[in-house]
Amino acid sequence: MTAIATHLADTVTLNNGVKMPWLGLGVWRVEEGPTVEQSVAAAIANGYRSIDTAAVYGNEAGVGKAVRESGVKREELFITTKVWNADQGYDSTLRAYEASLERLGLDYVDLYLVHWPVKGKYRETWKALVKLYEDKRVRAIGVSNHHIHHLNDIIEDTGVVPAVNQVEFHPLLTQKPLLAYCNEKGIRMEAWSPLMQGNNLDHPTLVSLAQKYNKTPAQIVIRWDLQNGVVTIPKSTKEARIKENANVFDFELSAEDMQAIDAINENRRFGSDPDNFNF
Ligand code: NDP
Repeated sequence: MTAIATHLADTVTLNNGVKMPWLGLGVWRVEEGPTVEQSVAAAIANGYRSIDTAAVYGNEAGVGKAVRESGVKREELFITTKVWNADQGYDSTLRAYEASLERLGLDYVDLYLVHWPVKGKYRETWKALVKLYEDKRVRAIGVSNHHIHHLNDIIEDTGVVPAVNQVEFHPLLTQKPLLAYCNEKGIRMEAWSPLMQGNNLDHPTLVSLAQKYNKTPAQIVIRWDLQNGVVTIPKSTKEARIKENANVFDFELSAEDMQAIDAINENRRFGSDPDNFNF
């Protein structure tokens, strides 16, 4: 799928009609308080319109403060948060959503995700998200770290197809079968740890493509996400990198170079396998 994004504010239309920016800022492991506030403020000032947080990141309050103080209208921003594993189950998820809104200081979020498919719980958790969506408390609902079999379970239970599946996705973990499944079902894939958590950006293929396109390895990888039709949320706390990571709309990787990046794949995860996690 060729990226249609030509600008940082460009959006992809999710399966319920809601528009989500192709590129946003991730804030995992960004300290609550001034650090997260400054990162979010820098991103928004530089044209980002999407921020990805989670209850477990412990920085929803700072994200919300920076959003409210940004001077950009709420409806122009796209805020994602996630229900943490300890809160999963039907009633507890409904409560967790209200607690996230409270911390964020917002009336709604744009996208609410089931963070991990907790065994014995994720099916009930998804039903709670469907309830929140039906009650118009949230603009779109989706999941994170769901394999094909998890997705099949929740779709079978409810008939409601998640708008998004946010998963680990980068040149070392290209997830082709999952991407094909999501595309077929109308689930937008979103890349977490798109920059491999800052590792392996010195891979020779990435370095040589960076030279070829006069870009940085990080920009090459982010562009590869977009041209794969994958929404992406690179994290940085440094304004120069926040700008760098968004400066990916003025070039296009050739089909051959897309394949060269695909070939880096080692099915290597920096995070846990959704079939085998203990948190
Ligand atoms: P990323 O792959 O985005 O990499 C972030 C790291 O790369 C940081 O160390 C950052 O350092 C560095 N970096 C950023 N930009 C550049 C650049 N241009 N050149 C070189 N290094 C760079 O990692 P994350 O794991 O944070 O993933 C992104 C987001 O995905 C998270 O913040 C979170 O929102 C989401 N996520 C979701 C998960 C889930 O389970 N749903 C799991 C993990 C992440 P510095 O800050 O110093 O610039």
